[in-house]
Amino acid sequence: MSKYSSQRIQGFSETVFSKYTNLAKKYNAINLGQGFPNFKEPDIIINAYKQAANDYQQYAPSTGMPILKQMAAAAKSKLIGKELNPDTNILVTVGATEALFAITQAFINPGDEVVLIEPFYDAYPADIMMAGGIPKYVPLYPQKDGSWQLDFDDLRAAFNKNTKAIFLNTPHNPTGKVFTANEIDKIIALAIEFDSLIISDEPYEYSSFSDFVSPLSRTNAWERTLAISSVGKTFSVTGWKIGYVTGNEKLIADLHLAHQWIPFAVATPLQIAAAHAFEQANQKGNNYFRDLRTSFMKKRDILETALEKSQFRPLKSEGTYFIMADSSALGYKDDIALCDDMPKRFGVAAIPPTAFYCDEHKYLAKNLVRFAFCKTDEMLIEAAKRLSK
Ligand code: PMP
Ligand code: GLN
Repeated sequence: MSKYSSQRIQGFSETVFSKYTNLAKKYNAINLGQGFPNFKEPDIIINAYKQAANDYQQYAPSTGMPILKQMAAAAKSKLIGKELNPDTNILVTVGATEALFAITQAFINPGDEVVLIEPFYDAYPADIMMAGGIPKYVPLYPQKDGSWQLDFDDLRAAFNKNTKAIFLNTPHNPTGKVFTANEIDKIIALAIEFDSLIISDEPYEYSSFSDFVSPLSRTNAWERTLAISSVGKTFSVTGWKIGYVTGNEKLIADLHLAHQWIPFAVATPLQIAAAHAFEQANQKGNNYFRDLRTSFMKKRDILETALEKSQFRPLKSEGTYFIMADSSALGYKDDIALCDDMPKRFGVAAIPPTAFYCDEHKYLAKNLVRFAFCKTDEMLIEAAKRLSK
């Protein structure tokens, strides 16, 4: 850190995603760490991209290109079973990442408490703390059957009159848990009781292998929910950094006030391309979303089966493109020691999940490891071979 660094960034270091991608590169290992697809991007997005690249070079409106808002609203409406107004219910952002930052800037005051479910996506505490908020952590616990469960007494205990928001992430990175309707309704009830916002991070909404429920689909949550989507995940183009937020008119208007000072607007040609991709995927008879889900399910099965034959014990992944595994049998001191050694020893990189827990709860993840399965089947099969050695 330089002598000029702000208090806001004290304690920050390189993200686990950068660290283990660099380690994978160093040892020429298969990168099952950072979640990015390595297969050919879908034709619908690449064709749309080539067309848009010719014509759209100037600023987009700050809230997003109308055609993208229209197409994204149509897709989200279908998913949540609720009519959306593209003009007022959607804001286009620089990926889910900027959405998270803009939301915390727009809604969190210094001293506000925010409930986070552990393991959390690593940007949440950083964004909350940069806004001056205080994260309160509630762990998910792996069960004997491999599923992950919340203790709702713990969750209730984390709420109080200072609780401004709860962050939900479904399908959940890194566990792959998909929150059930019953769990979503219990979370909504707590948010209503304590008058808190629900920030529902849903970048894997189209990679859910069991019934996906967004709190946005619940009438009683509409006044307090913002849901975050990622075009990067939906169309396997993580490098595009395009996303959008869905919510009621007032919340979206507040959010825009922060967003206009962050990027002002999002890359125009990418918005047009994303709009055309959604337009095609939304068409009757187009099975894009279904095929995406079944393709990731197949990849999950390949990796899960491979892990079962190795010394790793896979837990249940019901969505996303991640799976957690227990690594106790390998005898490492902790998950960092294991992940530091894996690229060199096995030729496979993975992520140590303690990065997704607060200091007090890191012991819960010491014997866990996260693998990404958003890779070609051939690469997964090769990784499986290496892991089973
Ligand atoms: N939230 C979660 C849960 C994620 O896994 C990710 C990264 N894939 C993001 C947010 C950020 O998404 P984006 O790449 O669209 O910024
Ligand atoms: N979301 C991706 C993951 O969980 C990584 C995103 C990033 O590198 N910041 O692997």
